[in-house]
Amino acid sequence: FLSVKGLSKSFGELDVLKTINITIDEGNIITIIGPSGSGKTTLLRCLNALEIPDEGVLAFHDGFEIAFGNKLKKKKLMELSRKAGMVFQSYNLFPHKTALQNVTEGPLIVQNRNKNEVLELAESLLHKVGLADKMNLYPHQLSGGQQQRVGIARALAIEPELMLFDEPTSALDPELVGDVLKVIKDLAKEGWTMVIVTHELKFAEQVSDSIIFMDQGQIIEQGPPSQVLKHPKHERTSQFIQRVV
Ligand code: ATP
Repeated sequence: FLSVKGLSKSFGELDVLKTINITIDEGNIITIIGPSGSGKTTLLRCLNALEIPDEGVLAFHDGFEIAFGNKLKKKKLMELSRKAGMVFQSYNLFPHKTALQNVTEGPLIVQNRNKNEVLELAESLLHKVGLADKMNLYPHQLSGGQQQRVGIARALAIEPELMLFDEPTSALDPELVGDVLKVIKDLAKEGWTMVIVTHELKFAEQVSDSIIFMDQGQIIEQGPPSQVLKHPKHERTSQFIQRVV
């Protein structure tokens, strides 16, 4: 579905991603775990053109391919950013727009789609994430968990091919985490292809087809949850897991 080949990214002297290779199959859920600063967020942002890698190739199932390193046309980067919907750790909602307006913004303003069609889509997405009765409220009138569910509906509204989640529950009070994880699990059941950065190992175990453990800009280990979480092959993985649990 998506192959990531030789992706590298530095910020000045700091090599944040060092030749990352990943294959993501259609309908699979990949979670990325690893210590703070290991490059997880940067990797996710590279998949969505929020960060431009220095080198590497992204190749999609439909033949769309983007090779970094040379100067890229803006149109090509726009095309990449529309393939993936991103859910941020800190929600990133527009504070002066209602939940509904936050969801319609992308398809209306960026994608220039038909207004009635977009409204209908946004309402059905807010319904899907359990916020049918909160559509006209502003972010400050919503709990963190509700704001994050608006964030998920907003990412879905651009009708992406895959979904990216950057620590979607780490800013939430513990009692609000469950609602957000349930929405992600529902998307998993629907067959979405997803890449999720998370510190919730129990959730990762339940939902992932494959877990990637990253450290210092490299993939140290990748495999099914039963292997990576229960029988890690690398010392660094088991140390990390012991620390988090
Ligand atoms: P965490 O779990 O704490 O979110 P992470 O694994 O997601 O960490 P990244 O956010 O990808 O890590 O950051 C990796 C490294 O890159 C860090 O050392 C960070 O300081 C650095 N970094 C990230 N973005 C930038 C930037 N725009 N400019 C300079 N350095 C950056």
